[in-house]
Amino acid sequence: MTILYVACEGESTEPDYLQYLNEQFGDGDGHDRQPFRIQPVYRRNGLTPGEVVAAACDAAGEDEAWALFDRDQWGDIPQAIKAAAASRIEIVFSHPSFDLWLLLHFQAFGGAQSGSSKLVVEKLRQAKGAEAFKDFDKKGDKSIRAARRNALRNREDKAAEHARTLVSSCSHGLCKPRQAKVDPVEGDDPVTPQQWASRSGHAPDCPILQRDPSTDVWRLLARLRIVKARPLARGDHPG
Ligand SMILES: [Zn+2]
Repeated sequence: MTILYVACEGESTEPDYLQYLNEQFGDGDGHDRQPFRIQPVYRRNGLTPGEVVAAACDAAGEDEAWALFDRDQWGDIPQAIKAAAASRIEIVFSHPSFDLWLLLHFQAFGGAQSGSSKLVVEKLRQAKGAEAFKDFDKKGDKSIRAARRNALRNREDKAAEHARTLVSSCSHGLCKPRQAKVDPVEGDDPVTPQQWASRSGHAPDCPILQRDPSTDVWRLLARLRIVKARPLARGDHPG
């Protein structure tokens, strides 16, 4: 059984989503997907990106650790990336927010959002098939339970395809989803923060704060073989 410690900024949406992954996919499929268990690491009132990385590190010990954080709220992202690279904690960055990943289950999305999640949430509330999300983030309800889980189910391949498309359409121009890495690194050669942040498929010199919009959550699902790591997508032909 693969054990992953996944630390996150939020106290509701992301931990709920991680539990959903456990319940929906954690038993494996008897084929490519091995049984796994995600241990969500979070704190009431949330964590900053730097705190997310530190919490992942503390909780995981020698086990595999991932850190989920967003662009929209906090300022210590460069330090968080640096710390993640030093400790080899996988980065799952979303710009502007994790909510983009939810939206991509229902539709493609594009256009820079400058760190604001407002439009993403509006689109999510209105998306076809996403009726369970029509009150998302109203009265503070950012949970992902019951009907919202049902709405996400069986849309993960589509979401991953949309997320990979955002890599290939990144304004940097040399970012390619097929360059993404999803499996744990071997050995302990030092990596620079830029190299570490390029495991998303973005070029090493594509500044993480300019990956607008983007979300790396698909990489976690690819790691767990919930979605395929390398399907061929439009604009991402080999060679
Ligand atoms: Zn890029």
